[in-house]
Amino acid sequence: MIIILKRTTTQEEKNQLIENIKTMGLTVKDAGSEERMVLGLIGDTAKIDITHMQAHHNVEKVMKVQEPFKLASRAFHPKNSILKIEGHEIGGGNLTIIAGPCSVESREQILTIAQSVKAAGAHILRGGAFKPRTSPYSFQGLGEKGLKLLKEAKELTGLPIITEAMSTEDFDLVESYTDIIQIGARNMQNFSLLKKAGKAKKPIMLKRGMSATIEEFLMSAEYIMASGNSQIVLCERGIRTFENYTRNTLDLATVIAVKELSHLPIIIDPSHATGKWHMVEPMSRAAVAVGADGIMVEVHNNPEKALSDGQQSLKPERFEKLVVSVGKVSDAIKDMVNYNGN
Ligand code: PEP
Ligand code: MN
Repeated sequence: MIIILKRTTTQEEKNQLIENIKTMGLTVKDAGSEERMVLGLIGDTAKIDITHMQAHHNVEKVMKVQEPFKLASRAFHPKNSILKIEGHEIGGGNLTIIAGPCSVESREQILTIAQSVKAAGAHILRGGAFKPRTSPYSFQGLGEKGLKLLKEAKELTGLPIITEAMSTEDFDLVESYTDIIQIGARNMQNFSLLKKAGKAKKPIMLKRGMSATIEEFLMSAEYIMASGNSQIVLCERGIRTFENYTRNTLDLATVIAVKELSHLPIIIDPSHATGKWHMVEPMSRAAVAVGADGIMVEVHNNPEKALSDGQQSLKPERFEKLVVSVGKVSDAIKDMVNYNGN
C-alpha cells in the first residue's frame, strides 16, 4: 500500500503517522522526494482500513499496489533509480556499456582485453572468476586468482569491474574485489544468495533466470531490496523457448515491461541471449532502440581459443564498431524514449 501525504504535512506529523502505522506491525518506507511525500507500507496491509486512512487530515491519497513486489515497484518509487559506480551512472538516460571476456583466463588475456574495451569506449569491465558451467568438466574459472587479475585490470585501465558471485560462500570474497556483484541466471531464485546480496554494500546486477517470468524476475529483485540493498540493475539475457537456432530467445519486451512496472535500470546481454557473435551487434542496437539502459557484451582477443563462450564473443575490432553503432541509435532515439516516471 502507498500513502501520498499532503504537501502541507509537517515532518513531525509524518513521523507521528509512521509511528501509528508501525504499531500495526507494518514496515514503513519513507520513499518520497522533495516534491512528493510518499510512504510505502510493507507487510499485511489488510489490517488497514483504507477509508479510515483516506480520512486522515494529512493524507492526500491511498493506493493499493497490485503487484506482489513493492520496493521494486514504480508505484512505490516513481522516479528512475540511478546507480553510481565510481563516477559512472547506470540508468537515468545514460547508456552503459559493459564488456569483457566470459571468463578471466590469464593475466595477459584480461589485461589485453581490458585495454581494448576501454579504448573502444566501454564503461565497465566484465569477467568471470567463478563460472556457472553446465558441465562439471568445463573450465570452472580461476577463483580468487581471477579476482586479483580483474583488480589489476581495473588499476591499469580505470574501468570499474563486474564479476559473478555463485554462492553465499564465495560472496564476501567477490564483494571485497569487485565494484558490481553479478548474480547469474541460474541463481536468480537462489533465495539465500539473494538475501546475502541484500546485505551487501556493493551494487548487484541480477540476471533473469532462463525460465523466469518478468514477475518472478522482479520478485527476486524484491528479495534483495527487502534485505536492505536497493542498488540493483536488472539484466535480460534471453529465455528458453522452443527455438534452438539461437542459444536463448532475447525477450526485448521485458525492457518495456520492467520500465512500466519498476524504477530499476535494466540492461541487455545479447551475447548469452543469442549465443552467436554475429547477432550481438544487431541485437545491441535493438536493445538500445527499445530503451534499455545499457548492454553487456562478451569480448575476447582470441575467441577461437577462449575457455568459455568463444562462439558468442566479439573480437575487439568488432566491439569497437558496435560501440559506434549503438551510440548512433542512442542519439537517434534520445527524444523518443522517455521513461523518467513522471
Ligand atoms: C555470465 O554473464 O557470465 C553468465 C554466466 O551469464 P548467465 O548467468 O546469463 O548465463
Ligand atoms: Mn559467458
